[in-house]
Amino acid sequence: MIYDIIIIGGGPAGLSAAIYASRALKKTLIIEKSVFGGQITQASKVENYPGFEEVSGMDLGEKMADQAKKLGVENIYGEVTQIKKNEETFTVTVGQKEYLSKVVIYATGASPRKLHVDNETKLLGAGISYCATCDGAFFKEKTVCVIGGGNTAIDDALYLANLCKKVYVIHRRDSFRGEPVKVSLLKEKENVEFILNATVKSVDGENFVESITLLENMQERKIKVDGVFVAIGHVPNTQLLEDFVPLTPNGYIITNYDLETSVAGFYAAGDVREKKVRQLTTATNDGTIAAIMACEYLNTL
Ligand code: NAP
Repeated sequence: MIYDIIIIGGGPAGLSAAIYASRALKKTLIIEKSVFGGQITQASKVENYPGFEEVSGMDLGEKMADQAKKLGVENIYGEVTQIKKNEETFTVTVGQKEYLSKVVIYATGASPRKLHVDNETKLLGAGISYCATCDGAFFKEKTVCVIGGGNTAIDDALYLANLCKKVYVIHRRDSFRGEPVKVSLLKEKENVEFILNATVKSVDGENFVESITLLENMQERKIKVDGVFVAIGHVPNTQLLEDFVPLTPNGYIITNYDLETSVAGFYAAGDVREKKVRQLTTATNDGTIAAIMACEYLNTL
């Protein structure tokens, strides 16, 4: 059996593409590695998705996934390990199984960037986390730090400030990428302390995080913390594609205005592609464009 469209990645971009593809009566399969809804499921509150004044990211992700399923999109969980193209057909490998399609929409998003410091791997899940809304509750009344100066770090710190005894915000510069209005809110919190112009040298602890060592003005400074929340951006999930489609030096997929890549029938949508604004709304926008253009392409075959 050959699908019209296989969508790889079940976040907002992939699910929007799935909704449009199935409504255009294309036989569609969507493959997700972990959670349908993607990165958005980790947001405790979403307040900037039109039509939803306030919704949890998990609820919104579930609603999108349910909508796609009700429209008849087939879905499977699994990690894609290979993509090949022979003539006009793509072969997508998941475990021992191969799935065939005429079009692939690649919407795998991005994963949290690692600090790459001592003990980061050893203490992952033992005090180091990349998701404040997932793990914050384990640190009630404890002392934690958030690393980063973007919107994610600011949101995470605001969330943790309501749970934890003390929150350090550690940022490598003295100005923030995060929205000024959120930074101002954070500055009003009595249990939040900013440590600026500081980088992380190591996270310390034998079996669980005990402290963090910073470099501040070339001097080492150790702070006792129970948890470390890393929020320093994301890297695109394109490891599979290195010899398949052109990528930017940072690993993002290069597309044209219609979200086509240089491989006919292979589209990219969402945070995984090269673009300036990566938001929930721009992800759903990408999924829409990729699916509509993919349907046009299918109609020419
Ligand atoms: P981001 O905006 O790229 O910010 C990453 C932060 O981490 C920057 O402050 C950066 O410092 C710092 N950083 C990067 N590498 C580092 C390293 N190796 N060591 C220490 N610090 C490092 O990423 P993000 O906060 O995840 O946000 C991604 C996108 O999602 C943005 O467009 C953001 O606006 C959006 N977003 C929106 C919302 C919302 O609207 N509610 C919520 C979350 C995210 P420098 O500033 O020095 O580069």
